[in-house]
Parts: sequence; structure tokens; C-alpha cells
Amino acid sequence: MPELPEVETVMRGLAAKLEGRRLARVVLARPDLRWPIPEGFVQFLSGARVEGFRRRGKYMFMRLDRALSVLIHLGMSGRMTIDSAPQPHQHLTLQTDDGTLIGFVDPRRFGALDLVATEAEDTHRLIAGLGPEPLDDAFSPATLAASLAGKKTPIKAALLDQSIVAGLGNIYVSEALFRAGILPHRLAGTIGRGRAGRLVPAIKTTLTDAIAAGGSSLRDYVQPSGELGYFQHAWKVYDRAGQPCERCPGPAACAGISRTVQSGRATYFCARTQT
Ligand SMILES: [Zn+2]
Repeated sequence: MPELPEVETVMRGLAAKLEGRRLARVVLARPDLRWPIPEGFVQFLSGARVEGFRRRGKYMFMRLDRALSVLIHLGMSGRMTIDSAPQPHQHLTLQTDDGTLIGFVDPRRFGALDLVATEAEDTHRLIAGLGPEPLDDAFSPATLAASLAGKKTPIKAALLDQSIVAGLGNIYVSEALFRAGILPHRLAGTIGRGRAGRLVPAIKTTLTDAIAAGGSSLRDYVQPSGELGYFQHAWKVYDRAGQPCERCPGPAACAGISRTVQSGRATYFCARTQT
């Protein structure tokens, strides 16, 4: 599932092609994805000029020149294509006034397309409950420790909760907890200011590194440029069960990266250095 760095990468790719262009042709192939697509969607987009983009958590807004924003969520399997031949499960096609073709492809249809007034983006039902952006200064050790206080869930589950911090998923939570030296199973309420002081910078650097690497390529995720990302080669624990971790001095010290399942999802960690 695309997480914050992948969404940011896709959005930057779209912005490079769409900003300042008019949408000359809009083709919608079905009336719904995860939820119904609003009536008039095609008419509202047709002929509109794309002013810019904004990301919030794992959501993107494409802002149009009619005080209207298109909310785009890639869901589990969604991806955007540029100048690609129509693909199976391509539900939306945009053509700009300079001929660029943008496709929204989503085989599993957990994605979403919606319309919202630009000034009301933050009140959209999918956005209103989101926690802070992890890369904003407002996301700090003090605010994270405060929102985790008293929580009896594992820290991994708490960080996947989009109301605590927006945009993290299974991969980057595992990576950030490794960097912070915090066991994924530790109860969130025991994190406190000290550990939050390690965890918040670990989250920020994990995400920043991933964005710099151009997003990850996982299953059917493709960058809008058509290039695959390569951050998976830099994963320190995710999908590396049994391999040595980079923090331990060698096999004598570390049994290798462990894999367990929490709430039905794989978790990777070093049992020696994460406590
Ligand atoms: Zn280790």
C-alpha cells in the first residue's frame, strides 16, 4: 500500500506534468471506486486548469481553477500512469491541452476520487480526523508523547492509527521503530518524552530518506515517471527476516531480524537492540 513517501513521489510526478495545464479530455470508466464518485465529476474537471497539488497524509488534492479540489486516494493498489497505453482497471483518464495522458489504475478499487471545495479540503470526511503531518514542526516529541499517554495498544498499532500521525503504514513504521531502538510491541503509553525524543526524529528521517529515494516499488506500485523506486534496497528491517541487522556487530550478538505478525500484518525488528 502506498505510504506517505510514495504518495508524495506520485504527487510530485503529477505536478510536473499537470500544473498550469488545462484538462482537455476527462474519461471516467465507472461510477465508483471504494465509494461512489460524485455526479458531475467529469463536467467539473473538463476544461479546468490545474493550479497545483497538496498532500495530506496518504491523500492528494489536485486543485483546479474553479475553487475546487479533486481528492485522490491510491488505496491498496492504486497507481498513476503518464503517457501509458490504457491499462486494465484504468478507471480515470485525463488528457491535458498539451496532449499528456494521465491514467488512474486501481485493480482492487480501494482507492477514492472525490470533489471538495478547495477552502474546505481539511473538513472533508476522510481528512478531518487525520493527525499531524509527520514532517511538520508541529509533530514533535512533546505532542507525540502527549497523544500516546495512557494508550494500552502496541506502539506499532498506535503509529498506524492515522489520527495520531498521518501517512505512516506498515513499512515505514517498522523502519522508524528500528531506527529509534523501540520494540514494536512496547505499549504506546510507556513511550514517554525520552523515547519520543528518539522516535520523532527517526520517523522524520525515515520518511525524508524515502522521499529522496523516489518512493518504493512494491508489487504494482509504479512512479508516475514510469521509473520504479529503489528505496526497498535501503530498508533496514522490513522484509529482511533472518538477515543480520546493521546495528549489531555480527551473528554472535544478533540472532538476525525477527518477524512477527501484529493485527494480521508483518512486523520486523531486532530483538536485541529494540526495547
Ligand atoms: Zn540486531
